[in-house]
Amino acid sequence: MATPFSLSSLLICLTVIFLQPRELISAPADNESITLRVRIHRFRTANEPRLNCSMSDDDIREQMKAVNETWKQASIIWSIESIQNMTPQMPEAFALALSQNREKIAPALIANTQRENLLANGFNVVIAENFEKTIGGVFIPKPDGVVYFATRGPKGLQTPAVLAHELGHALGLPHTIFEKNNNLMMGAGSGRIPTRIKPITDSQATIARTYAVQGRPFQPQRIRRPQGSPADVFRILDSTGSGILRVEDSPPEFREFTREFFRKASRSSNDTITQGEYKIISGNQRINMKRNALGPEIIPQILLRFDLNRDGTLTREEVNNPHSLVFRQFNQWDENGDQKLTRNEMKKALSEKGE
Ligand SMILES: [Zn+2]
Repeated sequence: MATPFSLSSLLICLTVIFLQPRELISAPADNESITLRVRIHRFRTANEPRLNCSMSDDDIREQMKAVNETWKQASIIWSIESIQNMTPQMPEAFALALSQNREKIAPALIANTQRENLLANGFNVVIAENFEKTIGGVFIPKPDGVVYFATRGPKGLQTPAVLAHELGHALGLPHTIFEKNNNLMMGAGSGRIPTRIKPITDSQATIARTYAVQGRPFQPQRIRRPQGSPADVFRILDSTGSGILRVEDSPPEFREFTREFFRKASRSSNDTITQGEYKIISGNQRINMKRNALGPEIIPQILLRFDLNRDGTLTREEVNNPHSLVFRQFNQWDENGDQKLTRNEMKKALSEKGE
């Protein structure tokens, strides 16, 4: 009875061969283009005009054409799998989020998504009508890795670059720290102008292709990090002591961490990071973590706890507890350096989180 055995082992071999590429391929050849399937969902509802997307199929195809002109720089092609209508599940939650604060927009969008209609092995874009002054768009990595966009946003009618930007997040690109000049992934700043097409760097193209080749949206991972201060961590990662970080020089147990550190700085694994740049990047990351953890709605609680004379500002004496975050952040948050934290300074420090 040799035949069934060899047949089943042949089947196992085939399975192994077919399962392998997704896990093994690290980066495709430079010039080879990668096509990504994307299902476009258009919110349609009579109950909430700001969700009821007015774009026609042609409007959407026109947007995606411009998106592809930007992404051509990375040889990535977004291919529309289908355009479907989606009935929002909780329009009133969205309306409430718009009237309250932008932190609530993302959960409201998830709550309105018909998850069973999402393209399982590919990308999904859900389009609303008007995000008003809250956001231009957002990529929400969990649970499904969906990009949300709207016909209109904070600056009125939205350019396709906003959608191209959110798709950049879906391919693992963060907001840039060093790259200005209207770069696609600038979070904010004066160099950002609403053009139809935006530039990306070669490093960004390499990062995006690393994720694109996996054919599904980027998911942030928990990665073991070296212990210690930023200076300690730099010494650990720079195992050759050259003063310049390279992924391949990092200790093997922290190589994933180093690669992730590079990604967050919009550097590919072939790039280098100098000690000066490292300081700027890690400072930037600490600020982002604080903002993500708190958000501006914590300000009344901070004042209630620390503002002893109830004048609406905090002095060093009032927050005199070295274990409190406010104490540790005092100098960073005190923008004008007058040794007093105003409500506005705290609000600014805690809410400058772009999408
Ligand atoms: Zn963004």
